[in-house]
Amino acid sequence: MTATALNDLTLQQPALLLRHLNHIAGQWVPAASGARMDVLNPADQTVITQVPDSDAADARAAADAAQAAFAGWRATPARTRGQIVRRWHDLILQHQADLGRLISTEQGKPLAEGQGEVAYAASYVDWFASEASRITGDVIEPAVAGRRMLAVKEPVGVVAVITPWNFPAAMIARKIAPALAAGCTVVAKPAEDTPLTSLALVALAEAAGLPAGVLNIVCASRARTPAVVDVWLDDARVRKISFTGSTPVGQHLARRSADTLKKLSLELGGNAPFIVFDDADLDAAVTGLMASKFRNGGQTCVCPNRVYVQRGVMAAFAQRLSARVAALQVGPATEAASQIGPMINDRAVDKILRHIDDAVSRGATVLTGGQRLRTELGPHYIAPTVLADVSPQAVLCGEETFGPVVPLFAFDTEAEALALANDTPFGLAAYFYSQNPARIHRVSSALETGIVGINEGAVASEAAPFGGVKASGYGREGSIHGLDDYLHIKYLCQGGL
Ligand code: NAD
Repeated sequence: MTATALNDLTLQQPALLLRHLNHIAGQWVPAASGARMDVLNPADQTVITQVPDSDAADARAAADAAQAAFAGWRATPARTRGQIVRRWHDLILQHQADLGRLISTEQGKPLAEGQGEVAYAASYVDWFASEASRITGDVIEPAVAGRRMLAVKEPVGVVAVITPWNFPAAMIARKIAPALAAGCTVVAKPAEDTPLTSLALVALAEAAGLPAGVLNIVCASRARTPAVVDVWLDDARVRKISFTGSTPVGQHLARRSADTLKKLSLELGGNAPFIVFDDADLDAAVTGLMASKFRNGGQTCVCPNRVYVQRGVMAAFAQRLSARVAALQVGPATEAASQIGPMINDRAVDKILRHIDDAVSRGATVLTGGQRLRTELGPHYIAPTVLADVSPQAVLCGEETFGPVVPLFAFDTEAEALALANDTPFGLAAYFYSQNPARIHRVSSALETGIVGINEGAVASEAAPFGGVKASGYGREGSIHGLDDYLHIKYLCQGGL
């Protein structure tokens, strides 16, 4: 076995997992144009490797392959599809260490988190491997004599999967696994910052026995991505788009899907409120916020963006939180002690610093952090930050910061907290801490989000429906609902009986 070093990290199975080509119709191929793009290490901007920079011709070839494979995959018994998906799961776990290293190298999260993400991704693959055998329909009691009426579920067809960079394994796994389980074929375009993990997952799916053409992936730079995705948007054979990313891109996909009336699942931006009532267990609330906010350096769509604390407990909460945040270790993924790695790119760093500067210029106090850190290692390290006395007019109230910044806002009444929490176009996740059962019931029902964490900061699970409302999109991933998004219902009415 040879090991390959990826900057500072070493892969045990590079021949299997380090892929530099697109995968179309069962073949590893370059872009038709021959163009390539750099994949950068976010820590120091060094080039890890290159992958194809695809355009419309590659997207068309991928869609052709997926369409050609659809009839065969759809006819494959659900149990067999599930067994292949299960083998994929087993291989993902078998290569957890290497996949975790790939994630850490191209995305920047600390090694332990990279490994954790692989297990999280695998949990969805495992779930949908089982769900493949559980696709059932209805036998409907006929309204008139001499008829038989059935509702059956069928795969929607070719699915286009477009994913963001923040969870390079989990985002793509939790779309591809249900698509395959349902009998759909897939064309995928991973985020331009993090294609390597996705390519490795496709290599493992191939090794698991997936037939040629069932799963196709093309890489593209940000500049060429619209050319790739436009082909799929215009192609009536592509029956569904499953997208995770920003709200403006999701809106664009929804508009451009109208002509071919595709099914859409859109997991878009969030702006999660985190409310701490004065009847909360404060230590539990601090621990929940730490887990929820600082996972992946705050680059998580469900992580709290606005923290509302009831005035009577604000001082104690702020003091305990700041002590925990100040103790977080920031450093490269390769340092075992690192709890927060580099942010993904310049755009992300600029936005975080802009949010901090704006809040401070409107009167916020920096309790800890507030600036870049360890600049000798590169420009993308941000000190974990807590801001107090933040103005509700601050830019970070309206925009998702996507970084390790906690803004604290005081409130007086439950009604005020709910009004503030819901005062956003977004509706992905919300969290609150309280030990009052009546309040728990009231607040859970009043929060306008798809997910509510109650005395819990880590809510994601393969067994639960993940997704938002309002500008955070629609569709659900995980759970039985996550499979339904890849199926349509056909009604069969047999007469003359
Ligand atoms: P992004 O929307 O810029 O990119 C996401 C994907 O869309 C990438 O693959 C990108 O190449 C592609 N894309 C960009 N422009 C496109 C276009 N014109 N046509 C088609 N595809 C295009 O988002 P990002 O910066 O990669 O990710 C951060 C955002 O994603 C945040 O807003 C975050 O909240 C959101 N997010 C949401 C969830 C969720 O589950 N709801 C999970 C993770 C991230």
